[in-house]
Amino acid sequence: PRMPAPKNEPSRDFVPGSPESRSVSAAIENIRVNPREIPHVVNGERIMTADTTRVVEPHAHQSVIGTLAVADETVTKKAIAASLATAHEWSRTPWWERAAIMLRAGDLAAGKYRDELVAATMTGQSKTFHQSEIDAASEFADFMRFNAHLAQQIYADQPASLPGDINILDQRPLEGFVLAITPFNFTAIGVNLPTTPALMGNTVVWKPAEKAALAAEVTMRVLEEAGLPPGVINLVHGSGAAVSSTAIADPDFAGLTFTGSTAVFRSLWRAIGDNIDTYRSFPRLVGETGGKNAVLVHPTADIDAVRTALIRSAFEYQGQKCSAASRAYIARSVWNKLRDELVDIVRELPVGDPTKHETYVGAVIDRTAADRLQSAFDRANALDTHELLVGGRTDTSTGWFVDPTIYTTTDPTAFTLSEEFFGPLLSVYVYEDSEWDTVLREVDRASGYALTLSVFASDRRAISSALDVLRNTAGMTYVNDKPTGALMGQVSFGGGRASGTNDRTGSRLALQRWISPRFIKESL
Ligand code: NAP
Repeated sequence: PRMPAPKNEPSRDFVPGSPESRSVSAAIENIRVNPREIPHVVNGERIMTADTTRVVEPHAHQSVIGTLAVADETVTKKAIAASLATAHEWSRTPWWERAAIMLRAGDLAAGKYRDELVAATMTGQSKTFHQSEIDAASEFADFMRFNAHLAQQIYADQPASLPGDINILDQRPLEGFVLAITPFNFTAIGVNLPTTPALMGNTVVWKPAEKAALAAEVTMRVLEEAGLPPGVINLVHGSGAAVSSTAIADPDFAGLTFTGSTAVFRSLWRAIGDNIDTYRSFPRLVGETGGKNAVLVHPTADIDAVRTALIRSAFEYQGQKCSAASRAYIARSVWNKLRDELVDIVRELPVGDPTKHETYVGAVIDRTAADRLQSAFDRANALDTHELLVGGRTDTSTGWFVDPTIYTTTDPTAFTLSEEFFGPLLSVYVYEDSEWDTVLREVDRASGYALTLSVFASDRRAISSALDVLRNTAGMTYVNDKPTGALMGQVSFGGGRASGTNDRTGSRLALQRWISPRFIKESL
């Protein structure tokens, strides 16, 4: 069977008063009026543990939108047992039946469940209509459809045979279960991480971020309605540290697919290393981690394009995209023309409740995030190498609000150019127009991350030198475009250095990590 040729799912416009705005607003109201229980889902069974926690809207703490079950060791062990019990049958289910489930899930996300997914992501993760739509509707559907298509390519890959022989490539899933740990910032990453190994015939224990639990609950219903059999993906909520330590201690642990911070991925890798003698197989470790993404602006850059790129990539979704711009290196001649208008626009960006149409910047995800940003502001304010141009304020009285903030720094080794804050903080380093070669080295040296990068220039030689010197500085380099907004089917996603194992979400490689090929050669 051939999978349909995938196309990117278009996003809706959400003009105020439009039918789509009204139906998403009704879904939001429904979430607010009927806070739901968010159980674990193990072997298809919904389990509410005695231990629970409240889920609130990040932009309105008083609004409780769910009661979340918190796993104890028994639940995690049950989830592992369910994964192992289901593995044999699922691994022998034809790949096209597995792919058909993913395709149906994509259609449900783009259709029947679209508004519910978008509303859950807006209320639970503080995304605006547009940011939620491109994530929970469009990218969700894209992952399901493109992955099915990529799987077909992998399974079609068979070796040549000479007359008298038959050679077969048996694309087996891994032996054991896969642990998927997902971040709060994308509902689409939430569905992509557990379904990718499942598509390739593995069974999975999925631990979503507590702060994205509402969207995960809807996602699980989508997968079930699409026909995912019980036990293939087992959803366990609770502390990542607790769930992962139980899973990693299990001899049948076969792999980890993780998206989140670099520090947590390193700690998981260490724990896996400590247990390496106990596993049946060497586990596959896939991690997409942090970023400190630069926008580099040459004297020949188009100033209007730079302004738009900086505003969108640094402040959309409050800067909480792994691909967000958080440092900019700008030639003095450009900066002199760009600065005042940029600062004026950023000062006026509407911050507030993302379920209101006028809002551009919602709340950061939780108090820890707001405190992290406030502490970065305090540190920067205490340094005479930093000048605050706009923002620099947090307000946590009703929601975790952080103003869009820009500092300039005169120190190329400044902490604001090296550390990830995962919030609306942009640090700008202004270099002299003649210092292009020096600034290229500074961009490469300043941070240990290597995820996304933008270069703005019209001079071809400047573009070529940037692409050469910054070859290892990013997994995605954009020339004259913003560093955010990778589209499935066009840009596969991944980074090196401290940004991850670079297994390229949106490519065959991302699927291939979850199979363990066997060759069968038969002489006739
Ligand atoms: P995070 O704090 O590292 O959390 C990610 C996941 O790990 C959550 O499910 C979390 O669960 C769990 N976790 C936390 N502590 C853990 C521990 N000690 N052991 C095991 N699991 C643990 O990251 P986040 O705040 O959700 O997401 C932001 C980070 O993700 C940023 O660094 C961002 O750059 C990165 N990110 C990278 C990409 C990429 O493609 N490279 C994409 C998106 C995000 P609980 O918190 O519920 O316990």
